[in-house]
Amino acid sequence: DRVDNPYTGAKVYVNPDWSAKARAETGGSRIAGQPTGVWLDRIAAVNGAGGKMGLRAHLDEALKQKGSDQLVVQLVIYNLPGRDCSALASNGELGPTEIDKYKTQYIDPIAAILADPKYAALRIVTTVEIDSLPNLVTNTGGRPTATPECDVMKANGNYVKGVGYALNKLGDVPNVYNYVDAGHHGWIGWDDNFGPSADLFKQAATAEGATVNDVHGFITNTANYSALKENNFTINDNVAGKSVRESKWVDWNRYVDELSFAQAFRQKLVSVGFPSGIGMLIDTSRNGWGGTARPSGPGATTSVDTYVDGGRYDRRINTGNWCNQSGAGLGERPQAAPAAGIDAYVWMKPPGESDGSSKAIDNDEGKGFDRMCDPTYTGNPRNGNNMSGALADAPISGHWFSAQFQELMKNAYPAL
Ligand code: BGC
Repeated sequence: DRVDNPYTGAKVYVNPDWSAKARAETGGSRIAGQPTGVWLDRIAAVNGAGGKMGLRAHLDEALKQKGSDQLVVQLVIYNLPGRDCSALASNGELGPTEIDKYKTQYIDPIAAILADPKYAALRIVTTVEIDSLPNLVTNTGGRPTATPECDVMKANGNYVKGVGYALNKLGDVPNVYNYVDAGHHGWIGWDDNFGPSADLFKQAATAEGATVNDVHGFITNTANYSALKENNFTINDNVAGKSVRESKWVDWNRYVDELSFAQAFRQKLVSVGFPSGIGMLIDTSRNGWGGTARPSGPGATTSVDTYVDGGRYDRRINTGNWCNQSGAGLGERPQAAPAAGIDAYVWMKPPGESDGSSKAIDNDEGKGFDRMCDPTYTGNPRNGNNMSGALADAPISGHWFSAQFQELMKNAYPAL
């Protein structure tokens, strides 16, 4: 029997692998006790790969941390065929057509472990397939942002089938809470993307035997940097005769921050047929934007651009930038039920783990080199042809990036 909000009245699992890395950093003990997501980012990760704990080891440890309290374990299901079709840094091990392998060698074994009665008292949150479905909306067809790889995944249906299968199988486990990835406001906050994304999520949630009741909610901003709550301007402001929507930064988006987007998107999802009780998670691991560069008030009212650029907390060059963003800080600490419609603020992306390497690095994890992680790259249509804003000298995605971890602590907001 699922509760409405699994985070209410519960502790959240601290991943010992991440915690040890954080604690080994100067100043890291200030946050090493925070809960972060456990990423099952390849088949081998289920049993434990690269010296990291496997799923059973995590769940056994979770039972210890639980004691006689309630405890949430946060898992990231992340291994679709043709993974990350619009970027190279987190391309996965499965080719575009390997849907059967995804089902039988990845989802089925995970579902079997989660269904072990030994783990029945845990509240298991699964966030399902980061950065997949929104790519089919925004990066396909005749759009300038399209990539051949995303066109393939749209045409073969394997993202939709994979997500449907995962929701169905994981949803069969009574103590699993499925949250589907819903991008972030700087991705699907535009009118062209908002409704179509909700419709596609519905399609995936009713594919391969899944129903909307297999979905407990959605997660936004996973591993992204979008500011949680922008206090220096609102979407309704007008300056020098123009709406802020006309500013270069907002560029006709309907949302200026993640909280307003997540709340509005929740309503939209309910309107297309998801249960009215769905809740949202927001990944606040790296969207703090504190430190000395944080504006203390609104920008000058000379123009919409001076107003928005002078005030905005998010210091990225463009909201399409996603790799190891320079200047970012830790965001709100994980907490339950922080706002209406929001089940929790979570740190799903473990702070200090890279988004991708700044240069090509050989590896056996299927990870490519994406120039969005190269600080000298001048961009592509998906970031409005801007500089990447990435930090230099980063290791491949998922690997420990000490300099980034230090900067995230330095620029934390709230401050540490
Ligand atoms: C990587 C994963 C990693 C995750 C969490 C992703 O970008 O592709 O391998 O586990 O980030 O750091």
